[in-house]
Amino acid sequence: MTDPTIAKVLTSASPPVDLCDLSFDDHFVRSLPADPSRVNQPRQVRDACYSWVSPTPVNTPRLLAWSDDAGNLLGIARPVDSTSPAVEALAGNRLLPGMRPFAACYGGHQFGQWAGQLGDGRAISLAEVVNPAGQRWELQLKGAGPTPYSRRADGRAVLRSSLREFLCSEAMHHLGIPTTRALSLVTTGDWVVRDMFYDGNPQAEPGAIVCRVAPSFVRLGNFELLASRGEIKTLRRLADYVIETHFPELGSPSPASYAAWFTEVCRRTAVMIAHWMRVGFVHGVMNTDNLSILGLTIDYGPYGWLEPYDPAWTPNTTDESGRRYCYANQPRIGLWNLTQFGRALQPLLETAEGIEAGLAVYRDTFDHTYRHLMAGKLGLATLEDADDEKLLADLFELLQIAETDWAIFFRKLADVPVDAQSDAALIEPLRAAYYAPDALAPRHEAQIVGWLRRYLARIQRDSLEPAIRQARMRQANPKFVLRNYLAQQAIDAAEKGDPSLIETLLEVMGHPYDEQPQHEALAGKRPEWARHKAGCSALSCSS
Ligand code: AMP
Ligand code: MG
Repeated sequence: MTDPTIAKVLTSASPPVDLCDLSFDDHFVRSLPADPSRVNQPRQVRDACYSWVSPTPVNTPRLLAWSDDAGNLLGIARPVDSTSPAVEALAGNRLLPGMRPFAACYGGHQFGQWAGQLGDGRAISLAEVVNPAGQRWELQLKGAGPTPYSRRADGRAVLRSSLREFLCSEAMHHLGIPTTRALSLVTTGDWVVRDMFYDGNPQAEPGAIVCRVAPSFVRLGNFELLASRGEIKTLRRLADYVIETHFPELGSPSPASYAAWFTEVCRRTAVMIAHWMRVGFVHGVMNTDNLSILGLTIDYGPYGWLEPYDPAWTPNTTDESGRRYCYANQPRIGLWNLTQFGRALQPLLETAEGIEAGLAVYRDTFDHTYRHLMAGKLGLATLEDADDEKLLADLFELLQIAETDWAIFFRKLADVPVDAQSDAALIEPLRAAYYAPDALAPRHEAQIVGWLRRYLARIQRDSLEPAIRQARMRQANPKFVLRNYLAQQAIDAAEKGDPSLIETLLEVMGHPYDEQPQHEALAGKRPEWARHKAGCSALSCSS
């Protein structure tokens, strides 16, 4: 056996190769039942985990953006030019030897209602890659053409939503949040018609394809669909496959390992959502078909970032009336979704206790992780007692007395001087977080100062070196997040043929906790022009 340290040196030294020179694996399709029909027409697919389907070629594929970080992870080199054979493969125009493309079959609860079969209506998985470190990654094209799961839609994706998914996947990864990754963004040269706000104004938009990457794209909804149809044998096969491939530490399949697996999915989902809350990420469409079995953030659609702190904020226009998926509801929706998942697994478990126990782990993990992360944002080791709880609760009140930017407030909190000589000096670093800093009412200023004095007294109790506390706070509070208006500016420029802002954002979001003073402009709060602009404050599911 190779010494693990030597193996590590060897693998990290292997240079990335062209996508066309890679060998591919097909473990998912080899292990699980396929839909016997190859008819690429919308239809119900019974008792199968996927359907064979090839991408539909596009007109003139061009590489618009590439993530070197994701490429290095997979051992794939940046394509030599924007039209190289690797780009053709990433557009679905060329299948490479060993690729056996498929679309997965799943269902889901959408906005709280059972929606039946959904499936990969525009995502086509090409193959799996085992990287030099021995990790398995699935390559999936989003927007690669119709599949049996496309229902009445076209199987395509527009540039604006593809660019948002590409950038945000990578940004989330660098924030330290579990997520699917993105390797490439390719424009297709085809036009795609979308009615962006479902208001009777369809427009032709440039089409694009993202190649996204994850150990698996299996969702809670894959299990729900099989259970809803009573396809228990296939349900068991999929569960066994997922456990053996992605949770091998849980041992061979048994009622006990199914319960342990359910608990682990609950735990991971809780950690993921606690991190969303930390950075102010709002997923926007937390349907059960959009929750990963691996606890990864998946399916970037009408997501958004809290700018002015508002717990009821949702970026998704479709969700405006119910606000089911607003910022503050995300932890509760995670639990609701896992409850549906638990129901689907019930046939595999001997008792209902495993499900109850898993859901309890979700609650505990979320509470514990969230409190830990919030303490970290404040520069505290832990939230210790009722006074600390009150300090945090009062902060949430404070953030709402005037429009306060979530990211900037926490980032600047580290700069509040412990030895401020005046109220003005105390509040000064935080002014940048207020959307109308000059219009703060005197009583609001007094409230802010009052809270800051309590806060400073509290951090002194921890007797941590100020420089160390500040450094820790900067690791908990990103300076750069992919604000909607930034993504929108990148979209507007890319639609005019200029991809430079995509590159810049990818680079800057690759180090979100660093100061990067040369990119100060990308850390600014949302400008007034973006307050009501489509794509900057509100998004629809149309993509
Ligand atoms: P989403 O809301 O993006 O998670 O999508 C819900 C379902 O609709 C999934 O089954 C998608 O694959 C499918 N879908 C969304 N957009 C399209 C499209 N343009 N063509 C085909 N299927 C789509
Ligand atoms: Mg989806």
